[in-house]
Amino acid sequence: MDPVHVTREQIDYYNKPGPRYTSYPTVPVWSAQFNETDYRAALAAVAARPDETLSVYVHLPFCAERCAYCGCNATSTRHAHVVDAYLDRVERELSIVAPLLGERRRVVQLHWGGGTPNFLTEAQATRLMAMLDAAFAVDREGEIALELDPRLGGPEQAAFYRELGFNRVSLGVQDIHPRVQAAIGRIQPFEQTAALFVACRATGYTSVNLDLVYGLPYQSAESFARTLDAVIDLGPDRIACFSYAHLPQARPNQKRVDAAGLPSPYAKFGLFQQAVQRFTSAGYDWIGMDHFALAADELAVAAREKRLHRNFMGYTVRPAPHLLGLGMSAIGDLGGCFVQNDAHLGRYQKALDEGRLPVVRGHWLSADDRRRRAAITHLMCNLELPLSTALDEGDEAMVEAVERVAARAEEGLVEVDGERIVVTDLGRFFLRNLCMELDAYLARTAERPLFSRTI
Ligand code: SF4
Repeated sequence: MDPVHVTREQIDYYNKPGPRYTSYPTVPVWSAQFNETDYRAALAAVAARPDETLSVYVHLPFCAERCAYCGCNATSTRHAHVVDAYLDRVERELSIVAPLLGERRRVVQLHWGGGTPNFLTEAQATRLMAMLDAAFAVDREGEIALELDPRLGGPEQAAFYRELGFNRVSLGVQDIHPRVQAAIGRIQPFEQTAALFVACRATGYTSVNLDLVYGLPYQSAESFARTLDAVIDLGPDRIACFSYAHLPQARPNQKRVDAAGLPSPYAKFGLFQQAVQRFTSAGYDWIGMDHFALAADELAVAAREKRLHRNFMGYTVRPAPHLLGLGMSAIGDLGGCFVQNDAHLGRYQKALDEGRLPVVRGHWLSADDRRRRAAITHLMCNLELPLSTALDEGDEAMVEAVERVAARAEEGLVEVDGERIVVTDLGRFFLRNLCMELDAYLARTAERPLFSRTI
């Protein structure tokens, strides 16, 4: 696609704190009053629909070392017994929730995230998969995915996880430049990444993906071009290019980031535009906000056909009706509510030791939440808002929200025809700003330190 021209004034105007809308309503809206009784009611609602499939996310928070830029719920340890103790609690959690969902529910999407899933030893990973297989009917033809850190283990890990049943893999790259890597506390020679990538290709994963981050210290147009070219040369099926959110007040580990080298918002915008140019010129389709997929990849096909979805694990073409989260800080989206486990390792484990589910917050979705969520998801995934799905007679607030999105036509972010609001090439760079117009809770959450700026 052609580059868009954006002025400094536009960047200043749009660059404000806002959610990334991996959920709607967003986490700060969820209530600490939501408790285990609520969660059990949600699980019972899922049990009442035995034919509906599940997605399962397992959070594995351990890493060998904490990277300075990390925004995940992660913790560093050098001790395998700490992981064993954690898996004991995940097993306990499974032993409570799986029976409440009904007998061996069918799982069509399984994702191990972290942290660093491949920090587990082979014995631990084998144990975890056996636990999941005992609790659920995991469809090996579904999306069975995990995140791998190329710095841990060698290329032989590709064969091990493939053998265990994984068919999709994402490798964390971030940036290949040594100065950038030093500034974010993550030294990762590109040869390591390339060796694991080649091994994943050779062992038959159906999808091998790479994750990048832009907006890191000392990334320049020139240095980032080298990262983009190296990634394109490898030829992953999909690429995620995430915006770095520097929030040291909320994430103390980021105080170690060499903030003096952070790019200005104008330079950061330029880095992302550069990624869009490079990837789209190399045969990738730009998906949603910050993903890219080869034009023939099912994600790209679904995006063109306007049937893409998004959940906490990213963009997907096969959303299950319910997402079960397991492990510390894991989020569920099931039975009409969002629910989150305790993000503190000790408290997560203690709750399970006491026979309690480690719920800390959640939210029952109202009819208005669902309508706005559907509109935001459609905008984020399919870059349009069909007016028929967004509007409901008599819902004045929603009508006004949609009108505010439509009014962004004056700024060139959208175009409006009789039936739809369509996001323009310019508007794609400011998708979060457009979604914020549909957020009924924004006034009470906008200043939360949890939210990064939109650029
Ligand atoms: S960035 Fe990844 S490897 Fe680094 S600390 Fe965070 S979760 Fe662990």
